[in-house]
Amino acid sequence: MSVKSILTEPNKLLRQISKPVESVGGEERKLMDDMLDTMYAAPGIGLAAIQIGVPKRIIVMDISRDEDKKEPRYFVNPVIKNRNKEKVKYEEGCLSVPDQFAEIERPNACEIEYLDYDGKKQLLKADGLLATCIQHEMDHLEGILFIDYLSKLKRSMIIKKLSKNKVNREIF
Ligand code: ZN
Repeated sequence: MSVKSILTEPNKLLRQISKPVESVGGEERKLMDDMLDTMYAAPGIGLAAIQIGVPKRIIVMDISRDEDKKEPRYFVNPVIKNRNKEKVKYEEGCLSVPDQFAEIERPNACEIEYLDYDGKKQLLKADGLLATCIQHEMDHLEGILFIDYLSKLKRSMIIKKLSKNKVNREIF
């Protein structure tokens, strides 16, 4: 297992649509292990494969935020089957949009069909933070970032700030 570097906006790869995984084998499991390590190290509660530059429809999550009681979740080829009409607002951040937060409104519950770490088909009824997080991560598979829900002005201000930070980071 190893920690990979996380791509940050602006980066064209983050805008790519990820491809479905044909089957869950050793390669996919190694990728999921690396993604989990990377996510815990960041630290974050969710990570999509494209955030480390791999355009596959794979997500890892752990919303427990508990060092001693880790509850990793793995989603391969996730599909939203149902989403609630009722919406809820969360202040969202993203490892690919460092240090930026914004209130985003999403359906407060949803049902997701996916393959797990062993390649077994699963159905998950999610609500609360879990539902918000899975929807945020699934957006990554479509090349969508949470800042895309903001006004054009807010979004471009954030991207400008991030571009500036990037230059600074490269100098050091
Ligand atoms: Zn994100």
